[in-house]
Amino acid sequence: MAVAAAAKIAEVRETTRVERIGAHSHIRGLGLDESLEARHVSQGMVGQVSARRAVGIVLQMVREGRIAGRAVLLAGQPGTGKTAIATALAAALGHDTPFTSMAGSEIYSLEMSKTEALTQAIRKSIGVRIKEESEIIEGEVVEVQIERPATGVGTKVGKLILKTTDMETVYDLGGKMIDSILKEKVQSGDVITIDKATGKITRLGRSFARARDYDATGQQTRFVQCPEGELQKRKEVVHTVTLHEIDVINSRTHGFLALFSGDTGEIKPEVREQINGKVAEWREEGKAEIIPGVLFIDEVHMLDIECFSFLNRGLENEMAPIVIMATNRGITKIRGTNYKSPHGIPLDLLDRTIIVPTTPYDEKELREILSIRCEEEDCQMADDALTVLTRISKETSLRYGMQLIMTSSLIARKRKGHEVEVEDIKRAYQLFFDEGRSVQFLKEYQEEFMF
Ligand code: ATP
Repeated sequence: MAVAAAAKIAEVRETTRVERIGAHSHIRGLGLDESLEARHVSQGMVGQVSARRAVGIVLQMVREGRIAGRAVLLAGQPGTGKTAIATALAAALGHDTPFTSMAGSEIYSLEMSKTEALTQAIRKSIGVRIKEESEIIEGEVVEVQIERPATGVGTKVGKLILKTTDMETVYDLGGKMIDSILKEKVQSGDVITIDKATGKITRLGRSFARARDYDATGQQTRFVQCPEGELQKRKEVVHTVTLHEIDVINSRTHGFLALFSGDTGEIKPEVREQINGKVAEWREEGKAEIIPGVLFIDEVHMLDIECFSFLNRGLENEMAPIVIMATNRGITKIRGTNYKSPHGIPLDLLDRTIIVPTTPYDEKELREILSIRCEEEDCQMADDALTVLTRISKETSLRYGMQLIMTSSLIARKRKGHEVEVEDIKRAYQLFFDEGRSVQFLKEYQEEFMF
């Protein structure tokens, strides 16, 4: 089974994660104090104090393992920080806690069934922390040869001769090992370690065997012997991957490259059963630990009754992630039925859901959030420009206001200004429409758009 492949994927995952949370990259946690009270501005979070406090209690329940079988619903208007709060919870849970964010409408795809899409989302939100033993070899470098390709392009190749206590071994060097050797400036006579699992080379220092002591006259007097120690050591390394990544790596039809394209298609139930069995075995042997992550479903009212029942059943599973749903709907029809219910969510699911309301921001809070985003995007903004931007955000939306940060900063840069001025904001506001003006524009020119 692909434990080694899982290690490769861990690096891939980091990059996609950073990109996905771009709009929330300023959020580093819920910003709570020791007694779980929300600080007004902390860890990138501003205001929304009672929702943050409530989610802080959810965090506590997760940490104590008492959340099983429950879901959280963040209910509030667009732009009131529902996604931000879910992101903050994931951040507070720890860096290797998986966080998956999706919109309810995403499950209606032609490529896979609704339940498959939900299953993948759930399995992307469950982490498996795998403990592996890695062999570390320690020895003295006899010789390093690295050949650069004659043309200057292409891969470098090389050999390393390493002397351990009883023998000399020749290693063919791969790209990663060569990078390590060049970075550490390894030469003959150095004592190094090689991590066999990752190929990482660490230079420990100069060999005692070659160190020479000189007396006052400069004459060489003696060799100091290399201390014979443990030359082969074992080290425990830990990777965290998601169940979905393990599924994909082991799915013969896709292979791990599918993780780059995201084009994984449907995964056979037999593969999942096999993985579940293997993970259960690893857990029993103490080699793996399950980390329930966060599955955030925005616009949850877009799910239909089938999805809701599937989700409801999924929550009962021992390995379920924490499901956080968000909606801005009141009483509305449950998709796929003729029944109405609060937030368009069936009552049996609502029954096991903790509801947390989010409320609109006042001007001071908006200003604070915008100012944090300016800092995050490396944008210098004049005070009065920030006041105008805050006013615009209040009248349109916080999201729109945030878009204007980057656009106005590009406009300022074009006129070689050092900071964004009111004029730059005005220009960006004229160039890029918010939703309201865009609708207005379409209404006014409706005739011309029709054939
Ligand atoms: P929608 O219902 O449209 O999905 P939402 O309620 O999920 O909206 P977010 O996407 O969380 O709103 O908020 C919009 C932007 O404002 C995001 O970039 C988010 O990080 C930021 N933001 C919202 N609330 C806060 C807050 N309290 N502190 C810091 N940043 C926030």
